[in-house]
Amino acid sequence: VPQQLPGAPDPPVKVVVRIRPANGTVIRKISQDTISIGERNYRFDSVLDSNSTQGDVYELVGAPLVKDALSGYNTSLVAYGQTGSGKSYTMWGPFSSLVVGPSVSGLQGVVPRIFQDLFSKIQKEQENNDDKLINYQCRCSFLEVYDGKISDLLDPTQRNLELKDDAKNGFYVENLTEEYVTSYEDVTQILIKGLSNRKIRATSINSKSSRSHIMFTCIIESWCKESSSKCFGTSKTSRISLVDLAGFDRNTVDNASKQHAKEGKYIKKSTSQLGHLVNILAEGRQSDKTEKVQYRSSCLTHLLRESFGGNAKLSIICAISPDDKSNSETLSTLRFGLRAK
Ligand code: ADP
Repeated sequence: VPQQLPGAPDPPVKVVVRIRPANGTVIRKISQDTISIGERNYRFDSVLDSNSTQGDVYELVGAPLVKDALSGYNTSLVAYGQTGSGKSYTMWGPFSSLVVGPSVSGLQGVVPRIFQDLFSKIQKEQENNDDKLINYQCRCSFLEVYDGKISDLLDPTQRNLELKDDAKNGFYVENLTEEYVTSYEDVTQILIKGLSNRKIRATSINSKSSRSHIMFTCIIESWCKESSSKCFGTSKTSRISLVDLAGFDRNTVDNASKQHAKEGKYIKKSTSQLGHLVNILAEGRQSDKTEKVQYRSSCLTHLLRESFGGNAKLSIICAISPDDKSNSETLSTLRFGLRAK
């Protein structure tokens, strides 16, 4: 039975829709939490329209995630949507925003903002605490899943890594690089390295980078080190999982080429399994052994199971394009989001 954690009265799953900017918008936000397409209205936790800023996204899903992570929750943020709908922009921001640093760029994505906030909160806590009672240690990894195979985005020589399952640690990726981080700058260096490797790899296999899932994980361990203090001997571990899911588009469905068709099939299968896992979390059930078997084929789902277990919080960003050419993809994205509610 998971222990009860303080704070956070929010539901375990939160679904937010963000509409990418464009001219001639046909998808309308009609209130804080509802959008309309054609005759129908769709309701989520929040809807961000085309004028929303990266800061708005952060307020809605990033800031609560940092708070929950520091309270000991396993937290995840997953971006879902068609290729070109703004998933990468929302998660990581434009590449240039990572290079120039937080004070210059207002365009940073939600992920770098999360770590800016996280380290500033940790630092404040340590400053307010004269004896520096609590020690924090954060370590990060960055991986890519393409066609069911895991590669290490922090070490491009490591491909086809194996997913292991052990009773003590649950699912983990064998030999995946883990780097210790103590600042926002450390994290941006890792993001720059990983995202560049993703681009290089996509070129080498002649595929769009958006056809892979990528997942950035940070494990935060904290413990009380002052033997005279009441908290001595207590420790907390929480996991932050940030996932930019493979995009889908008509090509993945219509099978423009053999390679695309194969990619499309895998993307469809792994995201539908993920949808199922999200339902389990939303309903507050613990997934059991039979479900474990069912998930064998998708390593992404296995990895996310670790983040969804125990005390967990998940936010999903459904990224959509505003033009009516994309209506069928938009509806399929919204359906994914609604299933999670
Ligand atoms: P995806 O990751 O879903 O395939 P991208 O994040 O690469 O899509 O976005 C596609 C294009 O639209 C990029 O050129 C990106 O810079 C731009 N874009 C997406 N969302 C926004 C936004 N909210 N504001 C400005 N430009 C955006």
